[in-house]
Amino acid sequence: MEIEPAEEVKEPPRIHRLDESVVNRIAAGEVIQLPVSAVKELVENSLDASSTSISVLVKDGGLKLIQVSDDGHGIRYEDLPILCERHTTSKLSKYEDLQSIKSMGFRGEALASMTYVGHVTVTTITRGQLHGYRVSYRDGVMENEPKACAAVKGTQIVIENLFYNMVARRKTLQNSADDYTKIVDLLSRFAIHHIDVSFSCRKHGAARADVHSVATPSRLNAIRSVYGLSVAQNLIKIEASDNDPSSSVFEMDGFISNSNYVAKKTTMVLFINDRLVECTALKRALEVVYVATLPKASKPFIYMSITLPPEHVDVNVHPTKREVSLLNQEVIVEKIQSVVESVLRNSNESRTFQEQTVEATPSVPSVTNNDLHLSPSPSGSKSQRVPVNKIVRTDSSDPAGRMHAYLYKNPQKYLGRDSSLTTVRSSVRQRRNLKETADLTSIQELINDIDRKCNSGLLDIVRQSTYIGMADDVFALLQHNTHLYLANVVNLSKELMYQQVLRRFAHFNAIQLSEPAPLQELIMLALKEEDSDLESNENDDLKKKIAEMNTQLLNQKSEMLEEYFCIFIDSDGNLSRLPILLDQYIPDMDRVPEFVLCLGNDVLQMEWHGP
Ligand code: ADP
Ligand code: MG
Repeated sequence: MEIEPAEEVKEPPRIHRLDESVVNRIAAGEVIQLPVSAVKELVENSLDASSTSISVLVKDGGLKLIQVSDDGHGIRYEDLPILCERHTTSKLSKYEDLQSIKSMGFRGEALASMTYVGHVTVTTITRGQLHGYRVSYRDGVMENEPKACAAVKGTQIVIENLFYNMVARRKTLQNSADDYTKIVDLLSRFAIHHIDVSFSCRKHGAARADVHSVATPSRLNAIRSVYGLSVAQNLIKIEASDNDPSSSVFEMDGFISNSNYVAKKTTMVLFINDRLVECTALKRALEVVYVATLPKASKPFIYMSITLPPEHVDVNVHPTKREVSLLNQEVIVEKIQSVVESVLRNSNESRTFQEQTVEATPSVPSVTNNDLHLSPSPSGSKSQRVPVNKIVRTDSSDPAGRMHAYLYKNPQKYLGRDSSLTTVRSSVRQRRNLKETADLTSIQELINDIDRKCNSGLLDIVRQSTYIGMADDVFALLQHNTHLYLANVVNLSKELMYQQVLRRFAHFNAIQLSEPAPLQELIMLALKEEDSDLESNENDDLKKKIAEMNTQLLNQKSEMLEEYFCIFIDSDGNLSRLPILLDQYIPDMDRVPEFVLCLGNDVLQMEWHGP
């Protein structure tokens, strides 16, 4: 494709250095994304300070006030001036320390960040002192000299007016009612792990605390006092470990719910080396086990604490430390999965089955769209007991479900029970021999490439499998013979769409928009959507420029877009037709603005600058 020179050559814009305060505010907005992120950082600091009692007070979902008080070792008077500067920490001094870090903080970023997006006041007293000190911070520095004051043991940190200088975020948060819920949820999680610490969490003005735990030697007691009897009485203790340096080294212990525990949502409380983290791969692996063994109780409650040698955990992979990455994660996940599986099976057998009434299960699982009946019947013959981890594969290359971002709203639409895949494939076959497509050798090469790389075994599996249902937002369960497969619908769909485009290249049927849509407005919409949670408005002019440029670009290319892709743009810059990639599948029209923006931004401009 030829590259045409732009008609009007624009001067390149000047590049300038951002003000430091702007840089800091942007960075702070990433560390402290929500009120609950501030609470997490503060509580972790209190835990790092060896506190035995931590209480949290919240006003207006955290936007008006977050107050965290502890009875820890306090902060030295001499350290107060640099306490809230970025990258000041007592927990790390050289990079190598990260390998063996045991404390929860290490970046020295949390308190600093809070001072850039809120008003922070610290009151603290160290051992042996007669009085404490109080000092307030703004933008990383003290607002005044520390003042002597009366204080009880430990540290109290108050954040007022969080996000006062981030209008858009404040607005979105003001309308959301669940910020306090998230904080309560967070404290509940901490409370059942750190059972030697007592936690409380209270809404300002409320007489009763919503989380109230006292130090106890029994984890089950802690769970009972925080999550209630209905959870605590339906738990099974679980343990696993491995000490083989060639595969994995870890210890795990926890509690998992039994067949009597029925909930709408999975609760997974996971601590790795005492850090509260998320691990989508593990969560998904366990949910699959529950679906297969306890279909009626398939949304479990799971508390799990995993310890590994510190040098096997990279704690520095996520700005808010929410995720960690593990050495041999795949092996560990698989081992834990199989232990959970056998525990659940045993518990299932030793029970009476009154709660687990299973309908007469045919030898082949009955398959409906949204329901799973994969339960081995309780009378289960031994031959059926293939460990789940042997018949179900999870995708370990997907570290944390980041694919969610690309998710189509309703994947079932095109991976429906009557397997539209087969329909697709036959239409693909019809198209494959179209002479005209072969005219374009570059396209033909890409198609040949796909055919060459096609794995016939996998193709057979997809072709002959039965769709069972969605395991979660991303994975569909497919059955092929006696095997159960998890198929990443997002990846499958992308690949399918890509192949469709190649095979229908220049021969698309069209979807006619009921009303032609002006490109420039579509692009503006997409741009606004993109940073709806940032402070917008300020760069509306910039957005207009981008929209203008992209529209121009698309207009220039309209002939090519029409001929090859059946994307119609009329002379007034209106989009009127889109290609049909998959028969009977209408794409989500809400995504058209995003599509047009990508078309201009990622595709055409790439070609523009490309070789
Ligand atoms: P980090 O936790 O990564 O070191 P922070 O910004 O969260 O960074 O905290 C900076 C330092 O302030 C900590 O290293 C610690 O020395 C001190 N500190 C913060 N909160 C407390 C607290 N509640 N009790 C004692 N010291 C604290
Ligand atoms: Mg910290």
